[in-house]
Amino acid sequence: MTFFPLFHNTQQLNALLIGGGNMAKRRAKSLIDAGVACDLMATKIAEDVLQLIESAGGKVTVGAYVSDDVMQGYSLILALTDDRTANHTIANDAKALGLLVNVSDKPNEGNVIFGAIIDRSPLTITINNGGASPVLSSILRQQLEQFVPKAYGQLARLVGAYRPQVKQALPNTSERSIFWHQVLQGAVAEAVFSGKHTEAESLLKKHLKELDNGLGAVKSSGEVFLIGAGPGDPDLLTLRAFRLLQKADVVLYDALVSEGVMALVPEQVERVYVGKRRANHSVPQAGINQLLVDYAKQGKRVARLKGGDPFIFGRGGEEIETLAGQHVPFQVVPGITAANGCSAYSGIPLTHRDYAQSVRFVTGQLRDGSVDLPWPELVVEGQTLVFYMGLKGLPLICEALIKHGMDKNMPVALIEKGTTQDQRVMISNLNDLPAMIKTENVLSPSLFLVGRVVSLHDKLSWFTSSRDA
Ligand code: SAH
Repeated sequence: MTFFPLFHNTQQLNALLIGGGNMAKRRAKSLIDAGVACDLMATKIAEDVLQLIESAGGKVTVGAYVSDDVMQGYSLILALTDDRTANHTIANDAKALGLLVNVSDKPNEGNVIFGAIIDRSPLTITINNGGASPVLSSILRQQLEQFVPKAYGQLARLVGAYRPQVKQALPNTSERSIFWHQVLQGAVAEAVFSGKHTEAESLLKKHLKELDNGLGAVKSSGEVFLIGAGPGDPDLLTLRAFRLLQKADVVLYDALVSEGVMALVPEQVERVYVGKRRANHSVPQAGINQLLVDYAKQGKRVARLKGGDPFIFGRGGEEIETLAGQHVPFQVVPGITAANGCSAYSGIPLTHRDYAQSVRFVTGQLRDGSVDLPWPELVVEGQTLVFYMGLKGLPLICEALIKHGMDKNMPVALIEKGTTQDQRVMISNLNDLPAMIKTENVLSPSLFLVGRVVSLHDKLSWFTSSRDA
């Protein structure tokens, strides 16, 4: 290892940047953001660099570097001029004075280099590859950024505040380490990541109390992640959904969850199919609710994957009601609902200033063989209707909309298996659609969109990510 990572106390660093160009600006920005005092000297100084330094209370000197006199009182020197010889001299002078010095683009001329930083203060991760390729470090940083939840810093602060208490309650180092592992990989951490700080703190306090009562390490309390899996394309999964899938012990999934999404579930995770479509194996809703509770009470992390968004025609509300009633910790991860996925992938905006000022998601499910909906509210100009679960009732719905006054030529789009490789978009109108679906063998899942926005499909679908355009 040529460069050993050390973390400097920002309050005790005093930096002098020599050079006034773009690199000086980048370095000054990241040092100032971190709280390091920065002064700058250069022959030519860009206006924005000047402002940056001065607004942070730094001193700017116009002039060339001539002697190490100017290094007095600094602990870190950055040689950032566009003159290699000057940078070399600066580096040698600084080293002779025993200072830290970095030379832009020349890792071995100075004695320190900068890494790419992932900032979740107080937690920081830095990446360096000995100056071989800053771009490579930056690519790796971007990849890691996605997997380190933004609230890691808050988690660090929370547990930091409880360290002394835990140390007192658990004097044995290895017991303490087990305790912290369980807290930092369990429900406390997840509560912080999902923005529930009060809950996280009470949970941590509860664990502490259990320690005081002599119950030993944290009882591994199971939890449930109610996750929206999106409409089909696995790329539409959220980063949080992906992260939680990686830490699940068991996944309960529906028929609507695509194979592509299931392929992202790690191999060792137990999979339980609770779909309703394959009649023989279907588990009634109450059974699913109970299964979630049972798995969680065994201490497992349960990922409950649902198609689209769990709270849109997903009965997610019923599932968490049971969990809440049984005091099982849970979090809900929103997903892209079918209407949004189908809209984007077919080039049909749900609202548009010229055509629709509102959009309404409607269930078209039949009850006792008929569709009972507030028709007058649906037959409104300037509104897009999205019918979920309406395939069977489609002829009845079209008929009722016309009967209640909707233009029989109102454009309609029927979207089958939206966002998947097999997406099909069929364009028609209220009057003709029922006859059209008789000749087309329309498969599930499908939804249909009613409204003037559908007329934009022709113009916009070519430019969208539509798979069938
Ligand atoms: N919670 C889901 C909806 C569940 S209801 C969500 O937010 O998307 C099931 C209905 O959603 C289906 O009958 C169908 O109308 C619609 N649907 C789900 N996925 C779809 C897809 N990929 N393409 C078209 N419609 C879809």
